[in-house]
Amino acid sequence: MANPLVADAFIDFLLFEVLDVEGLCRYPFFAEHSKATFEPWLAACRRVAREVLWPTYRPMDLEPPRFEHGRVVVHPAMKSCWRELVDLGVLSASRPADVGGQQLPLTVASLSHAYLMAGNLSAYGYAGLTTGAAHLIEAFGDPQTRAAFLAPLYEGRWTGTMALTEPQAGSSLADVTSTASPTAQGHFLLRGSKIFISGGDHDLTENVVHLVLARIDGAPAGTRGISLFAVPKLRPSATGLVANDVLVSGVIHKIGWKGLPSVALSFGDEGDCHGWLVGPAHGGLKCMFQMMNEARIMVGVNASATASVAFHEALAYARERKQGRPPGSADASTPPVPLVAHADVRRMLLRQKAIVEGSLALLGLTARFSDVAEHSPDDAARAHAKLLLDLLTPIAKTFPAEKGFEANALALQVHGGYGYSSEYLPEAWLRDQKLNSIHEGTTTIQGLDLLGRKIVAGGGAALLALQQEVTDGLARAGQRGVDAQLLEPVAKALEALVRTTAALGARGVSGDVTGMLAHSADFLELASTVVLGWVWLRLAEASHDRGDDFSRGLQQSARYWLLTEVTRAEHFAQLCESAESSFVDVKDAWLG
Ligand SMILES: Cc1cc2nc3c(=O)[nH]c(=O)nc-3n(C[C@H](O)[C@H](O)[C@H](O)COP(=O)(O)OP(=O)(O)OC[C@H]3O[C@@H](n4cnc5c(N)ncnc54)[C@H](O)[C@@H]3O)c2cc1C
Repeated sequence: MANPLVADAFIDFLLFEVLDVEGLCRYPFFAEHSKATFEPWLAACRRVAREVLWPTYRPMDLEPPRFEHGRVVVHPAMKSCWRELVDLGVLSASRPADVGGQQLPLTVASLSHAYLMAGNLSAYGYAGLTTGAAHLIEAFGDPQTRAAFLAPLYEGRWTGTMALTEPQAGSSLADVTSTASPTAQGHFLLRGSKIFISGGDHDLTENVVHLVLARIDGAPAGTRGISLFAVPKLRPSATGLVANDVLVSGVIHKIGWKGLPSVALSFGDEGDCHGWLVGPAHGGLKCMFQMMNEARIMVGVNASATASVAFHEALAYARERKQGRPPGSADASTPPVPLVAHADVRRMLLRQKAIVEGSLALLGLTARFSDVAEHSPDDAARAHAKLLLDLLTPIAKTFPAEKGFEANALALQVHGGYGYSSEYLPEAWLRDQKLNSIHEGTTTIQGLDLLGRKIVAGGGAALLALQQEVTDGLARAGQRGVDAQLLEPVAKALEALVRTTAALGARGVSGDVTGMLAHSADFLELASTVVLGWVWLRLAEASHDRGDDFSRGLQQSARYWLLTEVTRAEHFAQLCESAESSFVDVKDAWLG
């Protein structure tokens, strides 16, 4: 069977039986929707992913974009991919009808987009960036800026980017130095350099709109002096579109995501780069967080999808490739067995399956909190969902990226020596996957955000909301007859998280902020362990007692994850609480 990219039965189960997306249709914003509208949408995404994007993945990995005469030329196959993605309605799937959108719940959009990302993540990348950029202008642009940029972006006539990073300002956006000088005509004159800008130039559409972070002359230092601007490659004028003094200074040679160019850009070398302020002066980073948070969820979906497509490839290979005999059967005259007959190969496959399913379910749950936070008519439900959305975002970005990388390595391992050859695809997905723990805030930055901002700075309210959800989940799973042996690790992990958070919070209150944050990576592991335990209880509960191979498979993944991974929570808790300080104390000079 051809690679399904993502398992249909699992996505249907998640959407309709675990996440109750039909329940969202009670909200006025989703009132036009029902299962009857979600199903054809899913079918269309599956078709485009499998028939259009997937066949182009390999050619685009082999032939990356070229930098020719100052502009970027992308793989010719990308043109038809772009047309199909635009026609599908991907760009405005979850946006309101008044900007041409379909008002789909983000839960449905995210999980259906997983197919597109698994088919060809680079091709989807242009779309994801364009939607994010357009949504920023939709949310914060003034009427003129919206009129100039919104329709061409949502209609796919132009594409968008996020232009944050500068050579000296990567993780630390406080150090952005690009500048913006006001003019009497209302626009600003931009100057500066950006690096790594994905989709920053190409020959797919006539124009690209960059959402750029820069400082208005005289702005305060640090993040409080950063503003956001829409800076098109070609700017509208009385005579049509004219060049806007945005120069592509080079294309990055990347190890993965080869179909999507990432470029270095230079703004205003000739002093004539026009940009339009989006949102309040000096309030740009806050606005940009809308796109960054959406992008973090998108990165999580992408990581899950990249692990998924590789898992399905490994599963098919393990069923086909024959090697060795069962333990105790040394008789070489008996036929060799398929790889999947070996228990350790099944361990590698089950681990991948559990990572993929857990990640997709985590993303679905996070997206659902986003739908509730934005569209529920009930104030208390919106506030509760917003707390959880904020808390879950760093986990939903990082767990699939880090564990997905492990899953991708296992997919390669299942292929043995063939996996290590570029004739087979798992090495390409491994290269692709690595980016997901780097862009949109590295894993380190997510750990600091989770502990420092989301939990401690928020006064513990988000943790209380999570505690309530996990406690309710444990009670429900118990009532539904989930094996008590599976509940216990989650209950213990939750207790460890609450205890550890109190200990770290006390360390912070006593003035030892460095000590509080030193183990933020372990804290992120601990919190992810609890959250994934909760996710797996929900999956175990929903698939309980169905008596088919699909639900037996899910029960087995649940058992595997809850008994082998969630039981590790105490280890991370002790690392945080003990303040083990080898890496804190090691001196630069001792490192070699
Ligand atoms: C392929 C690709 C595509 C990209 N696309 C875009 C894009 O479209 N738009 C855009 O604006 N940017 C983009 N980026 C940039 C990306 O977001 C940055 O690479 C990322 O934020 C990290 O910044 P940096 O590379 O400068 O690493 P650095 O910030 O130098 O970090 C290097 C290492 O040090 C760690 N570190 C840094 N600061 C701290 C700290 N305070 N405490 C502890 N550890 C720390 C980091 O976690 C990391 O491990 C892209 C990058 C790549 C590689």
